[in-house]
Amino acid sequence: MESKKLQLKKLNQEMLACTKCALRKGCTQVVPGAGSAETNILFIGEAPGKKEDETGEPFVGAAGKFLNEMLGTIKLKREDVYIANVCKCRPPENRDPLPEEVTACWPWLLAQIKIIRPKLIVTLGRHSMERFLPGFKISEVHGKAMRREIEGMGKQIFYTLYHPAAALYNGSMRKTLIKDFKRIPKIIAKIEIEKK
Ligand code: URA
Repeated sequence: MESKKLQLKKLNQEMLACTKCALRKGCTQVVPGAGSAETNILFIGEAPGKKEDETGEPFVGAAGKFLNEMLGTIKLKREDVYIANVCKCRPPENRDPLPEEVTACWPWLLAQIKIIRPKLIVTLGRHSMERFLPGFKISEVHGKAMRREIEGMGKQIFYTLYHPAAALYNGSMRKTLIKDFKRIPKIIAKIEIEKK
């Protein structure tokens, strides 16, 4: 069996040639994701922005800087986790991804999840939450861990957070996001205890 790192590398390589939706025509490059394939924690955002589209790396703009800072508060670096998006290509003018774009990109994200098999998936923002927890309101479920069975994936624990870009310049949302973020280690510890 190939290592998770190698499997992910091959998958991400295949992704670069994807033309399953129209987004690829309007963006510079596919942004598959980055980080450790062996991580316990998979962060899933929305879609690449301008900086991500230029560099090929997820979360490298202002929201990414904020995400790095929050990771630092729980003694983690980007390299310790995996960071991906529900859409791997930048939507024009940073508009929200369309449902059909999320659907077209889903097999790639699902394949990433199946390789990494994280203990916890942290959804960043409404679009990421809706892919896994449809029908919920982010204002009601942020900061709550939920176990769900997802088709093709099996049971998985999700933790919903506000999107760092939305919270960046909104004082109260920012405070809430930081508070929710700091609970991640406790949630991981609880998952580990329950597994024993
Ligand atoms: N916002 C996202 O949702 N994803 C990125 O990669 C960057 C900004």
